[in-house]
Amino acid sequence: MAGIETSQRGHVLEAKEPTPWDLPIHASEDEIIDAIQNNLIVILSGETGSGKSTQMPDIALKALGGEGKIVGTQPRRIAARRIAYRIAEQEGCEVGEEVGYHIRFDNKITSKTEVAIETDGMLLQEMQGDRLLSKYDVVIMDEMHEKSETMAIMHGLVLHAIEERSQTDKPLRGIILSATMDTQKLSRRLNGAPVIEIPGRQFEIEVHHSDAEVADKPKAAAEEVRDILDGDEEGNIMVFMDGEATVNRTIREIESLCDTTDLEVLPLFADMSSEDQDKAVAKSEKRTVVVSTNVGETSLTPDNVTTVIDSGSIKEKGYNPQTGIDYLLPMEHAQSGCVQRGGRTGRTSPGTVIRLYTEDNFNKRPKFQTPEIQRSNLQSATLRLINLGYKDIESFPFPDPPDHRTVKRAISILQSLGAIDEERELTETGRVMADLPLEPYISRMLIEADKNGCTQEVVTIAAFIDGKNIFLRPENQKEDADRKHDALKVKNSDFLTYLKIWETYERNKDDENWVTDNFLNPDVLTEAGNIRDQLFDILAKNNFDLKSRRDPQAINRSIVSGLTHRLLIKSKGSSYILKDDPTRTPISIHPSSSLKHNDSLPSHMIAAEVVETEVAGRENRVYARTCQPIGGDLLKEFFPEAGKKRRPGKKERREERGKGTEIYSREKDGETR
Ligand code: ADP
Ligand code: MG
Repeated sequence: MAGIETSQRGHVLEAKEPTPWDLPIHASEDEIIDAIQNNLIVILSGETGSGKSTQMPDIALKALGGEGKIVGTQPRRIAARRIAYRIAEQEGCEVGEEVGYHIRFDNKITSKTEVAIETDGMLLQEMQGDRLLSKYDVVIMDEMHEKSETMAIMHGLVLHAIEERSQTDKPLRGIILSATMDTQKLSRRLNGAPVIEIPGRQFEIEVHHSDAEVADKPKAAAEEVRDILDGDEEGNIMVFMDGEATVNRTIREIESLCDTTDLEVLPLFADMSSEDQDKAVAKSEKRTVVVSTNVGETSLTPDNVTTVIDSGSIKEKGYNPQTGIDYLLPMEHAQSGCVQRGGRTGRTSPGTVIRLYTEDNFNKRPKFQTPEIQRSNLQSATLRLINLGYKDIESFPFPDPPDHRTVKRAISILQSLGAIDEERELTETGRVMADLPLEPYISRMLIEADKNGCTQEVVTIAAFIDGKNIFLRPENQKEDADRKHDALKVKNSDFLTYLKIWETYERNKDDENWVTDNFLNPDVLTEAGNIRDQLFDILAKNNFDLKSRRDPQAINRSIVSGLTHRLLIKSKGSSYILKDDPTRTPISIHPSSSLKHNDSLPSHMIAAEVVETEVAGRENRVYARTCQPIGGDLLKEFFPEAGKKRRPGKKERREERGKGTEIYSREKDGETR
């Protein structure tokens, strides 16, 4: 069997970790070099572990005759760093010398760098200053099967740069790396760019499906883990769950069902420090069970996995172009994703995949996940593209074109934020916003804060927005927790509540019990602290004054300026509707909000997040999180229409509803997907 070394007498020796000079990709090296030399774009597909990420830069250098600069991209920071270290190790240099990396907030690229590994986002940022990537001879775009939003933009821009430079004496070459599938379609779109398939070095993988649908996946996964530990099979186990909550619950189930004395049970999800992520994928003395969300599906693979247990679920983030409301919902993962998860085993020895769903269920799933660019609100993408001179977003060569309604909304939101004008020209504010590697609405708040002299306060608040819930309510201490939380809440403003919590936390830094005593989630505070530092860093680099002014009015103004697309208008009972939502989807204030317990709810409010989420055992709900009432002058200034308008009568409301439905059906038949 390929990959297992056989002694002369035919005895199978222990499977070894492949060495950097003995990977599947090397069998195709000549073919790849030939293709690079004869084509501007080459597509390369091969299983994870075949050597694409760590070997391709060197092969590209060889194709250039040993002279040239290569930039390779990675979707995730941690993978970019790891790959740079691995390449440096192979080349016998230090990171920061011939091999460097550039990830957000960490730049190890110097004038000596020949191979630069960057996150997709950093390459995009670099292209804002240098559209043609004139420093480089080859761009290697890795993990392109993931089809993220950033990749979609990068793909279009790199194509453009390749075309522009094709007639010069320093052409740019592009190499697209993908973990199999879909490459033929891509090749057709790229005028028949050659596709090289690296023969995999996969070992036999046995796939088992469950006989019936499994209700409690964390528990079922833990039972599988127990059975595996009781059997004779060795090696590490990887479990896939849909989100952090189910990951943690699975770990608790495993710890209660299994003997964990000689076992390491580790979580792996996006919202954890890179050190902890490293720990989950590093070699360990002990047998390991890694319980992971989707981050473990592609770039981050634990060592020596012999069994994969797959819940088959994924939490998908998305945006509803019709309503302008985000969603974060667990759903059935696409077939290609499930196969990719299974491929975490069978890399260094045969493996087993246990699917916690039936074969029939698998067969009925869609082949591929919806590409992210089709689930995005496109605000950041649109601003970037306009900044790069592509005003006609509708005809930008995205590999998978987004919904026209989303483009329309993004344009109108950027206009309401004052980033672009009617002609889609960047304004002065828009130029600054485009320079900040942040969501446009956050950038807008910070720019306004800078004007109002309260940058420090707004940075602190921004660091909490979009984060997890800071308030913990342990099952048997709910009342205690609520009492402590109430003392920290600023009546009528979740934004100012964040500020108060942060300031109180800072004042009590010496009291190591303060966070737990107040039932706050320490991870959220740590994360907010990190984001806060990073924001200060970005702003300092962009010549902002980091002034402090604890004036609620100045702060509110700054916040509202970024949330002009998030006005909520009181509707029936305690529910709200979002301005510009023709479907008038009812929205509830999140239970953790300081507005929730007010006697009277405001007629208008702004919210930083409006998200449809799953509620255990009930129908999905749309929650507004991080809210604040808005009225008086601020309302008149930022929403002249809403400020003036009286509440429409019953008849008008009925008409408006009817109108909404009509717009929807017309658009649905017309310009959408
Ligand atoms: P691909 O990009 O095709 O998935 P990589 O180039 O990332 O493959 O990795 C090729 C092989 O090298 C894999 O088997 C992987 O386990 C091994 N490898 C990569 N990075 C390291 C590292 N830092 N330490 C040890 N082995 C590594
Ligand atoms: Mg790779």
